[in-house]
Amino acid sequence: PSVRELIPTHTGKPPVLAARLNANENPYGPSDAAQKAVIESVVRGNRYAWKELFDLVDKIAAKEGVTAAHIMMGPGSSDLLEKVAMVCFKDGGNIVSADPTYMSIVQVAKAVGATWKAVPCKADWSHDLKAMEAAVDGDTKLVYICNPNNPTGAITNGKELYDFCSRVSEKVPVFIDEAYIELAEGADTQSMASLLAQKKNVVIGRTFSKIMGLAGIRVGYIAAQPEFIERIGKITRGGMGIAYTSIYAATASLGDQNFQAMTKAKNAAAKKYIYGELDRLGYRYIPSYTNFVLFPIQMQGKTFLDAMAAKGVGIRVFEIQQQTWCRVSLGTMDEMKLFVSSLQTV
Ligand code: PLP
Repeated sequence: PSVRELIPTHTGKPPVLAARLNANENPYGPSDAAQKAVIESVVRGNRYAWKELFDLVDKIAAKEGVTAAHIMMGPGSSDLLEKVAMVCFKDGGNIVSADPTYMSIVQVAKAVGATWKAVPCKADWSHDLKAMEAAVDGDTKLVYICNPNNPTGAITNGKELYDFCSRVSEKVPVFIDEAYIELAEGADTQSMASLLAQKKNVVIGRTFSKIMGLAGIRVGYIAAQPEFIERIGKITRGGMGIAYTSIYAATASLGDQNFQAMTKAKNAAAKKYIYGELDRLGYRYIPSYTNFVLFPIQMQGKTFLDAMAAKGVGIRVFEIQQQTWCRVSLGTMDEMKLFVSSLQTV
């Protein structure tokens, strides 16, 4: 396995940053509607929000074209990645995923006793689906696909992924993490949720943290076959960790198409700007279908991270295939300008 994230300078309390470009957050959220919903619902915080949670589940189920029994909610999709890992790997087994990819589920799977079968991405950083299918064996308990992928920002073709999921889910559950799918433009980026209607054993992970701008308000969900949801629900309770106010914020955000369109447009503009500046400065970058861009740097990783932080710019640094990479989230235009001017002087 080749991916390794360098420990950010801020282990412990994070530094005050003028440009927070290290966590792929939405710089424009929460939307006005979500803020209003939080404020108006706070007085009901003495109650458990069961009814409101079920109402939200109904709305999500309708959106995904499934029943409420196909949905499990969580305080962010991290919670569900962890729950799925704990339940699926409590008796060992292996997890198949790309390398590099988002490591949350792999880390928890390993921590409870699983082994990681890491399959290197292809030269264009898409998933090597053929190699991943070949890596599935009798001990495989889950395949994890993050599309678009983090930290690369790369996309795997939707049609090829659909065929892969169709076949492989006959043998083992396939988890498709679609945290950034709403931001993917200019490629075949269909959601794999349509496979649920065909009774395929897929698990779709979605979050309100990115396009809806609710990272700190914490709402996410998985959509899967009811039997899979029941299996997770036997050990852990979905939705129990979500605050009343968060449920209201998520409900308000779900229907807020204007906010999502605004986020998409501004994200596209920031991406265009950063591509232009990286071109001008002679950096190669991986074309991104997300709200972040990954590009190789020559400087020693920790030195770069510290130097950028000293200028008030938070980014992430990864070691991938013996190369140091900077991952910069797409923030506001002012933040991007500060990032570029800092990059030029470190
Ligand atoms: N999945 C991917 C691919 C992510 O990049 C992230 C966060 O950055 C998450 C899941 C978790 O997000 P949250 O727990 O906020 O839903």
